[in-house]
Amino acid sequence: MTYKTLHTKLFGTNIKISIYHNNPDPILSTCEMLLTYYHKLLSFYDDESIISKINQNAGIKSIQVDDETFKLIQSGKLHSLEEKSNLNICLGPLVKLWDIGFDSAKVPSDGKLNQALKHTDPNNLILDKYTNNVYLSKKGMSINLGAIAKGFIADAILTYLKEQGIISAIIDLGGNILTHGFNLKSPTLNWRIGLQNPLEKRGIHLTTLELNDLSIVTSGVYERKSIVNGNAYHHIINPKTGRPLNTNMLSLSIISKESLNADIYSTMYFGIPFDEIELASKDKGFDAIAIYKGNILRYTKVCRKFRRDEF
Ligand code: ADP
Ligand code: MG
Repeated sequence: MTYKTLHTKLFGTNIKISIYHNNPDPILSTCEMLLTYYHKLLSFYDDESIISKINQNAGIKSIQVDDETFKLIQSGKLHSLEEKSNLNICLGPLVKLWDIGFDSAKVPSDGKLNQALKHTDPNNLILDKYTNNVYLSKKGMSINLGAIAKGFIADAILTYLKEQGIISAIIDLGGNILTHGFNLKSPTLNWRIGLQNPLEKRGIHLTTLELNDLSIVTSGVYERKSIVNGNAYHHIINPKTGRPLNTNMLSLSIISKESLNADIYSTMYFGIPFDEIELASKDKGFDAIAIYKGNILRYTKVCRKFRRDEF
């Protein structure tokens, strides 16, 4: 028995899946197939994806999707509609206008932004839970699952690994991390996850957390950004203004059992005052660490138990 790691690139990011098994190769190739399958299914940029089909048919007709995709869109819509939420899966028109992270990135005019904002109301995303039909009821609307897809895919891969009887694994989809079982390579048997300092170069860690059977997902202003006319713009858009969120928060990491929840909350609470995040964390059962400009850190109380060094 040994660990074997699959290394690949998808969603414009580095992917690593390590599993402990006596015959890891066939399982890792299925993981690679699953990654490709979900990427093709959920991509905003692939014209053939189910998400593109829904978007191409905005204001025209509804599209029937599979159970998993339906549940993902349903969860995305629910969290987009929450009162204190910076998540909105209907920001497709704005993501396209800004194109942050691509060579085509630009700062849209106020007129264009205001026009696009009119097509982002999640109430106009109509879901029929009896038939799995998804309908964007206004022309010009589009959904973008960029903020929640990686968490969903990490959970799906783990479900497959558990079905294969894997007792120990770590899934890392570009910093969206999910651990399973004990780390049999470590004397403490714990998975150690370094939390990056957003102000430093990659690889310099602010702290180390030990997280078993948990996911940690970070949203940050440094993750993806573009420089346009000398100004830096990051990729998390304020659903109210249509512009990159203006906040002192540099990154928000969420620790939760399910990677989908961690991914949803890391965008949903990005830029929200930490006291409110702390309240929500008790209610919803997650932990959070936020890093602010000036190297200021805030974290929920339970988080301390995961820490192996001082902040
Ligand atoms: P990452 O992709 O680094 O994990 P997030 O999970 O926060 O970061 O997702 C950001 C991506 O989601 C953006 O690249 C964009 O495609 C899309 N997006 C941007 N702003 C929002 C928002 N407010 N709500 C939902 N999706 C968003
Ligand atoms: Mg997210």
